[in-house]
Amino acid sequence: MIVTEKRCDLMVIGCGMAGLAASLFAAGRGISTMVIGHTGRIRFFSGLMDLMSVYPISTGKNWEDPWAAIHSLSTDKEHPHPYSRIHPAGIQKAMDEFLSFLSESGLPYHMDSNQNQSVITSQGTLKQTFAVPHTMMAGVDAFQEKEPCLLIRFPELKGFSSRQIQETMNEIWPSLRSIDLPFPNHFHELFPEQMARELENPSCREKLVISILPHLKDTSAVGFPAILGIEKSMEVHADLEKRLGVRVFEIPCLPPSMPGLRLQMVFQHQLARLGVQAFFQQQVDKVTALDTGGFLLYAGEGMDQIRIHARGVILATGRFFSKGLAAKRTGIRETVFNLPVYQPENRTYWHNPDFLACSGHAINMAGLEIDDSFHPLDKNGQPAFPSLFAAGSILAHQDWIRMKCGSGLSIATAYAAVEAFQKQVNGHDL
Ligand SMILES: Cc1cc2nc3c(=O)[nH]c(=O)nc-3n(C[C@H](O)[C@H](O)[C@H](O)COP(=O)(O)OP(=O)(O)OC[C@H]3O[C@@H](n4cnc5c(N)ncnc54)[C@H](O)[C@@H]3O)c2cc1C
Repeated sequence: MIVTEKRCDLMVIGCGMAGLAASLFAAGRGISTMVIGHTGRIRFFSGLMDLMSVYPISTGKNWEDPWAAIHSLSTDKEHPHPYSRIHPAGIQKAMDEFLSFLSESGLPYHMDSNQNQSVITSQGTLKQTFAVPHTMMAGVDAFQEKEPCLLIRFPELKGFSSRQIQETMNEIWPSLRSIDLPFPNHFHELFPEQMARELENPSCREKLVISILPHLKDTSAVGFPAILGIEKSMEVHADLEKRLGVRVFEIPCLPPSMPGLRLQMVFQHQLARLGVQAFFQQQVDKVTALDTGGFLLYAGEGMDQIRIHARGVILATGRFFSKGLAAKRTGIRETVFNLPVYQPENRTYWHNPDFLACSGHAINMAGLEIDDSFHPLDKNGQPAFPSLFAAGSILAHQDWIRMKCGSGLSIATAYAAVEAFQKQVNGHDL
C-alpha cells in the first residue's frame, strides 16, 4: 500500500457550495488549505444565488427584501437559524466576496442588494432569488417590463417546454411567444452538456440564428434553456445577442444544470491557481483528533491512501443526499465525527403526515447545533473540538429549500467558519 502524507492548516471536508466557498475564503486569507469531496452535487445547482426569501415557512411569507427576512428570522431565539449568528454586514461581505470572485473568473452575476429578483423557471413559475447570472438577466428585465419575448424549445432536449412556460404565464405576460426548432445538425435526443458544448462552436450558433431570425418579428428578447455553453458561456451569450440583434437570456432547467457545471469548472481551475490542493471525487473515511488540537484524516481508495494532518477542519458535508447525515432506524447521525444531531425525538415525527404541508417536515430542520464561532457542539452543549467548525446545509434549524436560502446559507456560514478558524489561529498561534 502507498501512503501519501500531507499537511495543511485547514482541511475543508465537502466540495458543495459551502466547502468550495470555505476553500476560496481561506485561500484568500493566506491560509494553507486543502479540500476533499465529490463535486457532482453542484451540477444540481440552478445558477440562481438564493439568499433568503421565505419566512416563516408555515405561512410561506415571501419577502422581496432578503435583509428584512433575515432580520425577521433572528427573532427566533429557541431555534436560531445559522444566519442569526452572523452580523448582516458579514453576510453581505461573504456574498460580495464570493460574487466578485465569480465575476473575475468569467461568471458575472447581477443583483440589487436590497431586493430579490424574479426569475422565470422552466415550469413557468417565478422564483425569487438574490443574484442572477449575467446569461439569465435579460429574462428578469423582460419580465419586469412584460416585453414581447420569444422562447425557444429544442424537441431533442427533454424536460424543457417553452409552450408550457408560455401557457402558464399567459395571464401575466401575454406577449410571450414560443416556438420549437430543431437543434442544428441533430435529429435525435440530446443531453444538455452535448448541446452546450455544440453551441461553443460558432458554426452551430450561425445555423441556429438563421433558423430563429424569421420568427423574431417584434421580439425584444429571446429565451433559451440554460445550455448556452460551459467554459465559453459569456462568449456564446454575447455572440447570440449580436447575431440576433436582441437581448438573449437563459432559463434554468432540470439537472444536470449547465450553470452548475460552469461553477464547478471555475472552482476546479481557480482553486488550483489559489494554491488550494483539492482531492476531488474522494472522501474522508476516518478522522482522529490529535492531542495537539489538530486532526489526522484518512482518505483514498485501495492501495492509494492519503493521510492528512490538519490544524483545523471545516465540516461542510451536506445532508442526507451528500451523506453528511445518515438516517438510521435509531435516529439521524453525522457521518464523519459522529457528532450529535439535533433531530425530532422520535422517527414518527420526522415527516409531516401531510407530505405537501406548507410547514414542511421536521427532519429538514435536523442538523448540527453550533455556537457563535461555528463550532459543532457535543452532547453537553460544548464545542466538540476547539479546531472543528461547520458550515452549509449540515447545520440545524434551517430548511434551505423551503426558505430559499441555499447558496446564501452555504456562502455566509463558510465565511463565518473561516473567520472563526482564523481568529482561533491568531489567538492561539497554532
Ligand atoms: C436540486 C438542487 C437545486 C438547487 N438549486 C439551488 C438554487 O436554485 N439556488 C440556490 O441558491 N442553491 C441551489 N442549490 C444548491 C444549494 O445552494 C446547496 O446544495 C446547498 O446550499 C447545500 O450545500 P452544501 O455545500 O452545504 O452541501 P452539499 O452541496 O450537499 O455538499 C456536500 C459535500 O460534502 C461531501 N462529503 C460528504 N461526506 C463526505 C466525506 N466523508 N468526505 C469528503 N466529502 C464528503 C459531498 O461529496 C459533497 O461534496 C440547489 C441544490 C440542489 C441539490
